[in-house]
Amino acid sequence: MTIDLAGKVALVTGGSRGIGRAIAERLYGAGAHVAILARDQARAQEVVAALTGHGQALAVRADVAVTQDVEAAVGQVEQALGPVDILVNNAGFTRDGLLVRMSEPDWDAVLDTNLKGAFNTTRVVARTMIKRRWGRIINITSVIGLTGNRGQANYAASKAGLIGLTKAMARELASRNVLVNAIAPGFIDTDLTRGLAEPARKALTDQIAVGRLGTPGDVAGAVLFLASDLADYITGQVVVVDGGLVM
Ligand code: NDP
Repeated sequence: MTIDLAGKVALVTGGSRGIGRAIAERLYGAGAHVAILARDQARAQEVVAALTGHGQALAVRADVAVTQDVEAAVGQVEQALGPVDILVNNAGFTRDGLLVRMSEPDWDAVLDTNLKGAFNTTRVVARTMIKRRWGRIINITSVIGLTGNRGQANYAASKAGLIGLTKAMARELASRNVLVNAIAPGFIDTDLTRGLAEPARKALTDQIAVGRLGTPGDVAGAVLFLASDLADYITGQVVVVDGGLVM
């Protein structure tokens, strides 16, 4: 069975690298027009240039933590590609440290991007989805939002908050056929996790039932499913994509 998203417009935040890039490529491959949002527009443009197919693609610059940036970027996407049908809130980062030593700027920066960023994009995009009676919103949280983690109080709080936001949005928007779900990846091999020292990486891999790290493509497959007609009766859920790390 092939998933056909022809004619749909998808906006992927943080689509210039790692998981977001794989998601953008997968949605584009299924026929969607795709907008890739990141702070580094040149990098997003490189991803757009590498896409080959029939759909349209666009790179837009914005910091998701900045409301005005997001409003301007969504305006550009709507003008170039049309109203957004599929929103993937993927932009996120870590700034780790033990709680007692964590600075307020490090707390704020992670919450502002990972949680408020999703609020900023969704608030703008959902208005049009409601009017058009169709929408799919997929929030990329983390298993850390379910389990917590030493040294990641800010990140765990942001990702747990994103799960709460997902469920509240799902309840508010379901009657307008706007479905909202979250995906919680486990340990995925990207720039974000490449800094981990080899012994720590091995110890983590030993805890993963399937015995390997995830790839960005593993997460993108779940996004494609949730964006498709196959998931028409699924909302407010957290799909864990972690190779059996947390169960
Ligand atoms: P990467 O660091 O590889 O990529 C992050 C992407 O987000 C880049 O495109 C980056 O572009 C963009 N980005 C970061 N901050 C902002 C911002 N303020 N505004 C707009 N864009 C931003 O990360 P991953 O691909 O590994 O992670 C993607 C998502 O998946 C994150 O939300 C992360 O928390 C989550 N995740 C990752 C896991 C992993 O193991 N890798 C596990 C669980 C969840 P630019 O810098 O140009 O803005």
